[in-house]
Amino acid sequence: MAFEGLAEKLSNSFKKLKSKGKLSDADVKEAMREVRLALLEADVNYKVAKEFTNKVTERAVGSEVMESLTPGQMVVKIVNEELTGLMGGSEERLKMPAHPPAVIMMCGLQGAGKTTHAAKLAYQLKSQGHRPLLVAGDIYRPAAIKQLQVVAEKAGAPVFEKGTQDPVITAREAVKHARDYGNDYVIIDTAGRLQIDEPLMEELRRIKAEVEPTDILLVVDAMTGQEAVNVAKTFDELLDITGVILTKLDGDTRGGAALSVKAVTGKPIKFAGTGEKLSDLEVFHPDRMASRILG
Ligand code: GDP
Repeated sequence: MAFEGLAEKLSNSFKKLKSKGKLSDADVKEAMREVRLALLEADVNYKVAKEFTNKVTERAVGSEVMESLTPGQMVVKIVNEELTGLMGGSEERLKMPAHPPAVIMMCGLQGAGKTTHAAKLAYQLKSQGHRPLLVAGDIYRPAAIKQLQVVAEKAGAPVFEKGTQDPVITAREAVKHARDYGNDYVIIDTAGRLQIDEPLMEELRRIKAEVEPTDILLVVDAMTGQEAVNVAKTFDELLDITGVILTKLDGDTRGGAALSVKAVTGKPIKFAGTGEKLSDLEVFHPDRMASRILG
């Protein structure tokens, strides 16, 4: 699970701090130097790590924190608050429009987990009493529609597909179908590519313009660390996403993407994928993640 190394390193640094009755400015600065190194080793963006430790130092040094009876614990509390803030503060849910259906456009690079997470989302929504409709918009890989059908069946959700018809038209027809048949969520699985290219982005922009999605969720693989963050930044600049689904958190021991996405892109991580099963989807809770790091 994410944050293993980071949690251990921070725990060692903070043990030292907490064992001291009184802290000097130098003690805090030394601890923050260790925190910064630990963050970098966890593959956190360099600028994010630097700003983070500067902020904690600023709040701790020269304030009443240092005069308190348990200054070490106070510093750890500040770190906890700042880590939570770094990951977005509070959790962010899917948007619901005044007039259903909510239209969720899933995008991302091939292999990130887009199709799996479209189905996971449908499964979770179904369990909450909703009626999601999955839409096959990845028409370029012959196996993609079939793959969506297989996972959708497991999730117990219907698939709207029109073969290799222009996905913009398929998306429009799917939204109409949802209105006619009472589906309150439309989840569009779009094409993925090995890298970001102009034809892919142009197609995504056309789908966006056609169906005006309530959410544009970018699916990125946590195991790719800073690369995931770079992908998120580029997609956001080109498409103005509303949030991120961070997948494969179960296989990511470092946690750099989880810690950097919000700070770098300004967009929240809304969900985390934690395994290959349909039920392995969690709402991303920044406070719980911070507590996981600090043990
Ligand atoms: P797509 O190309 O983006 O649609 O990616 P897929 O949905 O086909 O997923 C690619 C691979 O990643 C599949 O083998 C999935 O089972 C696997 N996968 C997806 N999400 C997760 C996750 O959260 N954890 C783990 N361990 N594997 C995942």
